[in-house]
Amino acid sequence: MKILLATNNENKYKEIYSKFKEQNLPFELLSLNQVTNEKIEIEETGSSLEENALIKAREVYNLFKIPTIADDTGLEVEALGGLPGVNSARFSGVHGNDAENRKKLLGLLKDFPLEKRNARFRTVICLYDGTEPKFFEGVCKGKIIFSERGSKGFGYDSIFVPENYEKTFAEMELGEKNRISHRSKAISLLIDYLKHYR
Ligand code: IMP
Repeated sequence: MKILLATNNENKYKEIYSKFKEQNLPFELLSLNQVTNEKIEIEETGSSLEENALIKAREVYNLFKIPTIADDTGLEVEALGGLPGVNSARFSGVHGNDAENRKKLLGLLKDFPLEKRNARFRTVICLYDGTEPKFFEGVCKGKIIFSERGSKGFGYDSIFVPENYEKTFAEMELGEKNRISHRSKAISLLIDYLKHYR
């Protein structure tokens, strides 16, 4: 059976593909560029990660009629009532400007001591196949530190230290991050579900 991943991000495809392989899942995981030459851009107009994941999975399913998975991730900072959350990619105003997003967050938290800098990454994956949508959530708790450390990764990685670790995500090798990340936890739950999916 075919499963379509609603993303143009090759890294996301590779991460999920390698987990599918590891588990010997009997699915052919397709990326958008394997089913169309057109660039599919879906506006994330939802007000939660769940809504955005569903919007993406449903729109892509309606185009290709292949069971589709889509994800949305946000960084939720406790002291800021869960911000930037669903707006993580555009926190500073410009979509995808990771450096400005980090700068804004560090500025907002500058007077907060370490014990008040709790945060978590949350990933929601939605599987949509024309019936009831299914959701899978992965969370990685940690803290926002005071200044950037590390040069690997992307997004907020260089200012986030996961619980029980000293290194930031940006100081870890990808394999180490992937073992504990929000995204990998959500993918594992999806995979458990797919083992019984017909
Ligand atoms: P997306 O839903 O995966 O596109 O993630 C939205 C935004 O959250 C990204 O633009 C990043 O700023 C941030 N983000 C998502 N995943 C991670 C991660 O693993 N590390 C750091 N930042 C992330």
